[in-house]
Amino acid sequence: MPMSTDQAAGTRADELLELAERYAAHNYHPLPVVIAEAEGAWVTDVDGARYLDMLAAYSALNFGHRHPRLVAAAHRQLDRLTLTSRAFHNDLFPVFCRELATLAGKDMVLAMNTGAEAVETAIKTARKWGYEVKGVAPGRAKIVVADGNFHGRTVTVVSFSTDPSAQDGFGPFTPGFEVVPYGDADALRAAIDDDTVAFLVEPIQGEAGVIVPPDGYLRAAREICTERGVLLMADEIQSGLGRTGTTFAVEHEGVVPDVYILGKALGGGIMPLSAVVADRDILGVFRPGEHGSTFGGNPLASAIGIEVIELLREGTYQRASAELGAWLVQALRDAALPHVTEIRGRGLWIGIDLDPAAGTARAICEQLMARQILAKDTHESTVRLAPPLCVSLEDLAWALERIVDVIAAA
Ligand SMILES: *Cc1c(COP(=O)(O)O)cnc(C)c1O
Repeated sequence: MPMSTDQAAGTRADELLELAERYAAHNYHPLPVVIAEAEGAWVTDVDGARYLDMLAAYSALNFGHRHPRLVAAAHRQLDRLTLTSRAFHNDLFPVFCRELATLAGKDMVLAMNTGAEAVETAIKTARKWGYEVKGVAPGRAKIVVADGNFHGRTVTVVSFSTDPSAQDGFGPFTPGFEVVPYGDADALRAAIDDDTVAFLVEPIQGEAGVIVPPDGYLRAAREICTERGVLLMADEIQSGLGRTGTTFAVEHEGVVPDVYILGKALGGGIMPLSAVVADRDILGVFRPGEHGSTFGGNPLASAIGIEVIELLREGTYQRASAELGAWLVQALRDAALPHVTEIRGRGLWIGIDLDPAAGTARAICEQLMARQILAKDTHESTVRLAPPLCVSLEDLAWALERIVDVIAAA
């Protein structure tokens, strides 16, 4: 019998896990927790148990679950207008574009929904810019990317993934990409030729395990790209919007990319909202009919996006991330944990590498879950910590004790 959402809300955890196992494609391997409610940095499962969220939906929840100002903006907009498509104007999208362009110090915004769509849009932008502005011969545009990258899951985007599990079985792939080692400016310089239109890079690699590149890498990349007339495209979908203690992670090196790619937290954890932000000489290459998205920049997402930008303008989340992140990294290092080979990060975005003797990072995350902390492993051996930026020092101190216990006992 079909179930109403009210009935579903009363269904037991084990039944729901069984339904997911049976009816949902197995493209994820979630921790066996079934969340029913959330507020701020905390979630509650269907049995009423509370957990500290230390993943924050891969940084889509930088401002926490159900931030009152974001929820209010969404509610207001739900009662007015939700969708027009871009066939007509609406009274919020232009304002969202102006606010986001201003935040990033750029001229223009192209709004999409998911991160992968924004990356695809950036790739199309760079190619068209290459042909129309740089003068690359038709069909020859090349984009340089970094080893260990994560930019999304579409066929073109996984075409330049170096993770076999992202690629195996999904070819044939899109040509036109060259992979260089992450953090190696000389390799970037060597890979650039006259057909190169862009270097697409994460300022910090998130899915690879919160990999912070060597100091000066992004500055060198900026210089090389400027010198060679190549667009520097920063995928700040996960690193941006407060996560590292600044609005954009490139700020740590004083670098301004030609193209910002944004997503995740831009929609406040409520709506999918992504964007490519750049100057007119770059985004101006698009003419009507050449690219688009039915839902891209819809009024509901725009209303939330405007409020997200307002939150960022106040700077409190960036400061909290910097201060709390520095505290947590230091506290983890001071704990001198066995089996931990490296602790790195920037702001409240931390990767803890474990040696294989400690078991898998997944097993650690399962034990953390038993202690009411939700964190996510990446690859075999890294536990990443990225709580909502509204988390309190008290919450983090509470979590630290448990994290230390679990890793020490591993
Ligand atoms: C999550 C992510 C993406 C893809 O975003 P989706 O919304 O999942 O499509 C792209 N790039 C980076 C750096 C990401 O972290």
